[in-house]
Amino acid sequence: MTNEGRLIIFSAPSGCGKGTMLAEILKDDHFYCSVSATTRQPREGEVDGVNYHFLTTESFKQKIDEDAFLEYARYCDNYYGTLTSEVDNRLKAGINVILEIEVQGAMKVMEKRHDALSVFIAPPSVGELRRRLNKRGTETQEVIDKRVRAALDELPYAANYDYIIVNDALEDAVDDFFAVIRAEQLKKNVQRKFIDEVIENA
Ligand code: 5GP
Repeated sequence: MTNEGRLIIFSAPSGCGKGTMLAEILKDDHFYCSVSATTRQPREGEVDGVNYHFLTTESFKQKIDEDAFLEYARYCDNYYGTLTSEVDNRLKAGINVILEIEVQGAMKVMEKRHDALSVFIAPPSVGELRRRLNKRGTETQEVIDKRVRAALDELPYAANYDYIIVNDALEDAVDDFFAVIRAEQLKKNVQRKFIDEVIENA
């Protein structure tokens, strides 16, 4: 029998390096990042079914009525949601499923799935966050200001997560993530089965 995979909530304000961290983590094929549904327009280079399932507002609402979402939230005038079909079969197959979602959706998953592991990625400082957003060079100053304000709104939610990883240096942050996963695997409720087996086979 395969062990079930772990549901992992992974949240970070914009500019925290979540994308680069995930790209590293997903090199390990024990991890899968759930493809969310959204009503926002695809950005250049984004592919339907790979980056997101791009839906019309009408079909998104239809999926809400069909109870197809584990969670959904409205963020910056668009809907975003995690399809249960992205998650449950993979968990059963032993794959760890990462939900890259914002804080409101994360709170909903924490309420519904008590066994979910939650990780919040924080910037080392607001100055550094601003510097990274500026460096991207893709956004206007107004958008950057808006994202910095949004990050400040999101930071207090970090206290609701199981772990907080500060992404100062990418490699260290990725190491910290795998350290969290390892620590979780060594928790007594997971290891107890092993101890029981040792006693049974004595
Ligand atoms: P973006 O439009 O930049 O791709 O994503 C905007 C925000 O939506 C990000 O903070 C991202 O984590 C969040 N997001 C993406 N997918 C989901 C989802 O399925 N549910 C929720 N609640 N948030 C999501």
